[in-house]
Amino acid sequence: RNQLSILNVPVDVITMNEAIQRVQDLYSEPGLHTVVTVNAEMVMRARHDKELHDILKQADLAVPDGAGVLWAAEQLGQHIPERVAGCDLAVALLQKAAQHKTPVYFLGAGPGVAEQAVKNMEAKVGPLEVVGIHSGFFDDQEEKNIIQAIEAGQTKLVLVALGVPKQEKWITEKLSHLDGVVAIGVGGSFDVMAG
Ligand code: UDP
Repeated sequence: RNQLSILNVPVDVITMNEAIQRVQDLYSEPGLHTVVTVNAEMVMRARHDKELHDILKQADLAVPDGAGVLWAAEQLGQHIPERVAGCDLAVALLQKAAQHKTPVYFLGAGPGVAEQAVKNMEAKVGPLEVVGIHSGFFDDQEEKNIIQAIEAGQTKLVLVALGVPKQEKWITEKLSHLDGVVAIGVGGSFDVMAG
């Protein structure tokens, strides 16, 4: 794994195609696999948020999401070939998921947004194996139902759009018991897909 470190946050030196391939490989490896999309905001936040920092350090894949990360790498005398923007990665993974009938759960964003995002994505990549969809605003009972649905649906990919750092913490706190599952915090991606 070719990584560099920006203010102690690891970033994989990886292209979009390599990131997509890595996620396909992770689906068949035991345990929960976390993918983080590193940008300047996240690096700065991690300096005073130890929980987030630990999550970033333990991620199975840390893609260079922000232009600031590429710039910081250059300042360190290193080179990242291209940006791997979280939203673009999510779209590319959904394209693969449509091809391979990979079960996907969509969690996050305001009421109706994730539903519209799925509709728009299906128009783009074809039918998806949708395990479930839930907005990013839920109570404890709804949260239990969400986790049960993810467990019961043979889910391979969980897209979590709750914003940074809530999504990263939620994934680690609530999904760590899962096996052969990839979870990604995708920030405002559902809003973009739905728009
Ligand atoms: N959000 C959510 N639940 C919350 C807080 C936020 O679902 O409790 C959603 C919000 O509706 C938006 C996304 O999380 O769709 C955060 O988007 P933003 O662009 O702020 O992401 P970030 O910049 O944090 O990656």
